[in-house]
Amino acid sequence: MKSPLEYVRRNILALKPYSTARDEFKGGDISVWIDANESPYQNGVNRYPDPHQKALKERISRLFDVAADSIFLGGAGSDEAIDITFRVFCRPAIDNAIAITPSYGVYRVAADINDVELREVCLNADFSLPVEAILSAADHHTKLVWICSPNNPTGNAFPKEQILELAERFDGMVVVDEAYADFSAKGSLLQEISSHPNIIVLRTFSKAWGMAGLRAGMAFAVPEIIAFYNRVKYPYNMSVLIQKELLRRIEEGTRNHIEEIIAEREKLAKGLREATCVREVLPSDANFLLVRVTDPDAVYDFLIEKGVIVRNRSTMPLCEGALRVTIGTPEENELTLRYFKEFGL
Ligand SMILES: *Cc1c(COP(=O)(O)O)cnc(C)c1O
Repeated sequence: MKSPLEYVRRNILALKPYSTARDEFKGGDISVWIDANESPYQNGVNRYPDPHQKALKERISRLFDVAADSIFLGGAGSDEAIDITFRVFCRPAIDNAIAITPSYGVYRVAADINDVELREVCLNADFSLPVEAILSAADHHTKLVWICSPNNPTGNAFPKEQILELAERFDGMVVVDEAYADFSAKGSLLQEISSHPNIIVLRTFSKAWGMAGLRAGMAFAVPEIIAFYNRVKYPYNMSVLIQKELLRRIEEGTRNHIEEIIAEREKLAKGLREATCVREVLPSDANFLLVRVTDPDAVYDFLIEKGVIVRNRSTMPLCEGALRVTIGTPEENELTLRYFKEFGL
């Protein structure tokens, strides 16, 4: 098995990271902190945050049963991990990456920003993973394959064995974005990173954990790879307030309403199938439904008039007629269902 370090850009392998004021300090009984040009007046945020987020990583390590040095934390959500992944592995204008389509839009934006060609491989018509097509889209400059599972916007998770097979056959890194894994019964690849060192798993606190406003995302991989994420990130990429609040909320155990959302998802799907404008409700492993309707633009506008906003995905590949509907509270879902029915044909 190849070492994943072979896929890291040479300039990143050689990178001497910025050394923060506190990195050089090794224990001792310090009572006067005058090394970092901070204000000495305590106000809760006058000190720089821990650049290594040690306490938080310890807690997350227990939470996900993954070693602390296998965790990268991003203070701009997992979008930060997506950007850093391109920067660690892909040389601008030389290397390329593969993503499935339709999928999450940030892979494309991050690729464009980094001047990395993104080759989009369409899912099969039944939304299954086109493993052979992905492998044949790769050449010797392909460093990354992006797999979103459960996939946004199609809602389905891919079988674990298929992603593992892809990782075994692909000569590069496979990034598995598991933003919605908490809503899926199909399992996570988190425990496979040590046996498959070319897999990177992305998770977020934005969805099932109910903290989209906080901005906290995670990348998990073997420690050799995570070490480079930590060198490339901005030194203080997660503020004192986020670290503190996240630790507090994890301790509180606030993984919000997952069973309730799954139950509501199934209930809403069943209800929507009875609405005359609905042609199909796709099965979902996430906290949203992809709903094919007769006239997506008209239904979208009608819902807006009623004060309900959904995501119109009807111009995406394989998404003809499709609106993406996030599961809300039971009251919100009832309203949404009522308006879909009210629209008529
Ligand atoms: C919502 C979402 C994310 C989360 O992004 P954050 O920056 O962590 O809020 C990541 N990937 C996918 C596919 C998503 O839909």
